[in-house]
Amino acid sequence: MTTIAFIGLGHMGGPMAVNLTRAGFDVTAFDLAPAAREAAGASGIRVAPSASAAAREADVVLTMLPAGRHLIAAYSGDSGDGLLAAARPGTLFLDCSTIAVDEARRAAELAAAAGHRALDAPVSGGVVGAENATLAFMVGGEADDFSAALPLLEAMGRRIVHCGGHGLGQAAKACNNMVLGITQIAVAEAFVLGERLGLEHGVLFDVMNNASAQCWALSTNCPVPGPVPSSPANNDYRPGFAGPLMAKDLGLAEQAIASTGVDAKLGLLAREIYAAYAAGEGSDRDFSGIIDTIREAGPA
Ligand code: NAD
Repeated sequence: MTTIAFIGLGHMGGPMAVNLTRAGFDVTAFDLAPAAREAAGASGIRVAPSASAAAREADVVLTMLPAGRHLIAAYSGDSGDGLLAAARPGTLFLDCSTIAVDEARRAAELAAAAGHRALDAPVSGGVVGAENATLAFMVGGEADDFSAALPLLEAMGRRIVHCGGHGLGQAAKACNNMVLGITQIAVAEAFVLGERLGLEHGVLFDVMNNASAQCWALSTNCPVPGPVPSSPANNDYRPGFAGPLMAKDLGLAEQAIASTGVDAKLGLLAREIYAAYAAGEGSDRDFSGIIDTIREAGPA
């Protein structure tokens, strides 16, 4: 049976670890936060006394951490006593966190230098997808390692794509979320423009959703209440996908834009708009709540 060390039991990692356990994998988990460890224990997950203790016995070390700096710190430890040193040679390091492409490549290099294998496998689908095991995984790394990880990924998700070599899972995620950020702003601008011109929300929704403006930001995450009852707009913009997470992902896209020199004006503008939103009224609201910011910025 595959033994998994699961490191990072937050909003996403907690339910993902539960799904692996339910699927019959031998999971031992750890989180720095005592509350996360307690919640995992209460869900039937075996909790280790430290991350290294979990990694020592593992075939796969799966990480679900906030950002790249947390991952590199967990891999390397304070003085070389991190996960990479603790694991047996040849262990598969599977990182599902959302981090920069360059950080994912650095993590893979560190793993290889320590005699291990590595994949970047960021997800989309949010907490609901983590709970229901319906996440989408975008995976970067060697084909053999992807095949080895597939049974685990299938226990946590539905759509699993091997995107290419190291870092290309993160690259696909950055591209996707850059489009998502841009389109959510575009749809919100269209609704505010329609309001000023006298269009009813439902009418504009019906037109755009059956025409060339159709997209996820409209048909699923519609930023005005009414047309899509399950969208956060009907629930006072409770997330969903919170403003700060979109700002973070657009920051990663910005890093990729800078390192490649691409003329991605809209991606950079979306990054600026969501950074301000996350620092202000969007700090704990869904990212579709950007429509209020747009509405308030113009004349009444
Ligand atoms: P979270 O903050 O809820 O959980 C992260 C956990 O990692 C925390 O419990 C923290 O204590 C733990 N942690 C940090 N450093 C650690 C270390 N060195 N060792 C052990 N534990 C450590 O975050 P989350 O919402 O679960 O997101 C995790 C990742 O998934 C992020 O990269 C995020 O961008 C990405 N993501 C999140 C969502 C979402 O909707 N929440 C959706 C897609 C992707």
